[in-house]
Amino acid sequence: MDKIKKKECKVIVKSENCKGCYLCVEFCKPGALKVSKNLNKMGYYYVEPNEEKSCNGCTACAIVCPDLVIEVYGE
Ligand code: SF4
Ligand code: SF4
Repeated sequence: MDKIKKKECKVIVKSENCKGCYLCVEFCKPGALKVSKNLNKMGYYYVEPNEEKSCNGCTACAIVCPDLVIEVYGE
C-alpha cells in the first residue's frame, strides 16, 4: 500500500530585515511563526519559524509582510 506523503513546507525569514510589526505572526493560523528572544541589527525582536508547529504553505505571512522578509517553499 502506498503511504500518503505529508506535504512539507518551509518558511524562511530574513531576520535582519524584519522590523517587528508581527503582522505575519497574526496571520499565521497554525502558529508556525514566533517572535525571537533576540534583537536583530536594527534593534527589533525579529520573527523566526516556530519549530513546534508545521507551516502549511498558505503564504499568508509572505503576502502581508510589508518588507518582503519572508519566503515560503513547498514541495
Ligand atoms: S506560509 Fe502560512 S502556515 Fe506557513 S508560516 Fe506563513 S502564514 Fe504560517
Ligand atoms: S510581517 Fe515582516 S516585518 Fe513584520 S514581523 Fe513579520 S517578517 Fe517582520
